Amino acid sequence: MNIAIIGSGPSAFYTVQSFLRENPSTNIDVFEKLPAPFGLVRYGVAPDHQKTKNIIRLFTKYLYENNVNYYGNVEIGKTIALETLSNIYDAVVVSSGAPEDKNLSIDNNSKVKIYGSAQFVGWYNGNPIHSNLSPNFNCKNIVIIGNGNVALDCARVIAKTKEEFHQSDIMEYALRALNQSSVENIYIIGRRTPKDAKFTISELREMADLKLYKPEVDYDEKEMLKVLEINDLDTKVKKNIEALIDFKKISTDNKKKVIFKFLSTPSKVINENGIDYLILNKNKVIENKIVSSDTIEKIPTDLIITAIGYRVSPIEGLETEPNNNFFVNKEGHIKANIYTSGWASGASVGVIGSNKIGASLLVKKIISEVSTNKKNSNSKILEYFSKNSISYLTKEDWKKIDQIEIESANENFTRNKLVNIESINNKLRV
Ligand SMILES: Cc1cc2nc3c(=O)[nH]c(=O)nc-3n(C[C@H](O)[C@H](O)[C@H](O)COP(=O)(O)OP(=O)(O)OC[C@H]3O[C@@H](n4cnc5c(N)ncnc54)[C@H](O)[C@@H]3O)c2cc1C
Repeated sequence: MNIAIIGSGPSAFYTVQSFLRENPSTNIDVFEKLPAPFGLVRYGVAPDHQKTKNIIRLFTKYLYENNVNYYGNVEIGKTIALETLSNIYDAVVVSSGAPEDKNLSIDNNSKVKIYGSAQFVGWYNGNPIHSNLSPNFNCKNIVIIGNGNVALDCARVIAKTKEEFHQSDIMEYALRALNQSSVENIYIIGRRTPKDAKFTISELREMADLKLYKPEVDYDEKEMLKVLEINDLDTKVKKNIEALIDFKKISTDNKKKVIFKFLSTPSKVINENGIDYLILNKNKVIENKIVSSDTIEKIPTDLIITAIGYRVSPIEGLETEPNNNFFVNKEGHIKANIYTSGWASGASVGVIGSNKIGASLLVKKIISEVSTNKKNSNSKILEYFSKNSISYLTKEDWKKIDQIEIESANENFTRNKLVNIESINNKLRV
């Protein structure tokens, strides 16, 4: 069977893994729009969470299998049409993730910059699409909107000192910009209550270990204690609430703060007497429902980062659901011989490993539904590249780049990522 996979993140490699387990002789060509592979493991997972990035070792094992090819810097829908792949391969699996930020539509009558987390995280992780962002940390108040781990990642990265990034692969330019920070308050804003927050406990607890910052929780402790009395309270929620209560007890000399605010819906940014404020409409809980109240709160704000979820990047020939959150599909089947896995196929939630089961089910489905009648798919795609003068990176190129990045890492850092295709090509030509 000849398979094309669009994207090279976790869902792509779990798809490769399942194909090779089900049928080791499957030929798989992986197409990635960025030069480097591994999607959000390289460009999303926080640079100080190197253990999480160890999954790359497993993906690398599959990348270097003889019947797996890698074509980097090839964007399906731009460099090559989806239809071309569909004609050449027995099946195409769209594993292109959800790389766009969901927009927060609030009025902004000020100079305050609003970045989405895909942009901001992409910036500190060296994603070529976002490496030119240049956020300014020469300010006092940063607001992060969202109550999931990505909000915590953004806050932690802004809060950490250079030493706290040792053994990470944060971009050098990001570290330089962060070193000039004069930030004093990082607000993390949630619309709902602490009970509804989607933080995972290990990430939340890290907020208590920051060298310069103290976590503060702007929520009534008695209300949180009441939640702990609920009989069948989810263990994850219990741990989060306990951690937030513990934050209130921390005594430290740290002057800088990470401030958790709940029951707050951002409504607009205004400038009053030369100061920019984010206006929060305060919510309340009535009979377990979150409803808005008449109260507003103003918080001084110099930069806003939204961490409120992701959408797919459209690919010509594919229909997206009305909010562009994912490609329309039925149990992974899009149309004809085109299928989808991972964040491209459903709501963009869940950890790396959550993509494994879906990929495995999808592969079984493809094997049972698709007839294998396409021949010489790889030779045909190479011919297509050559005819259309399309240049691309192979897995051998990536092997060299990977080595160069590791060998050129600064002392105390694990990797010095090459960002753009020009710098990569320059290194490859040496
Ligand atoms: C900021 C952030 C931090 C995270 N941190 C963690 C963590 O610490 N631990 C954890 O377990 N999970 C974490 N996750 C979740 C995890 O990253 C996802 O579950 C996983 O990456 C989804 O895999 P995917 O392959 O569907 O998408 P992605 O990882 O996004 O991979 C999609 C790939 O497709 C490529 N692509 C897109 N369009 C095209 C196209 N047209 N042609 C060719 N290629 C294309 C993209 O460039 C990308 O490489 C995090 C997520 C985010 C957003």
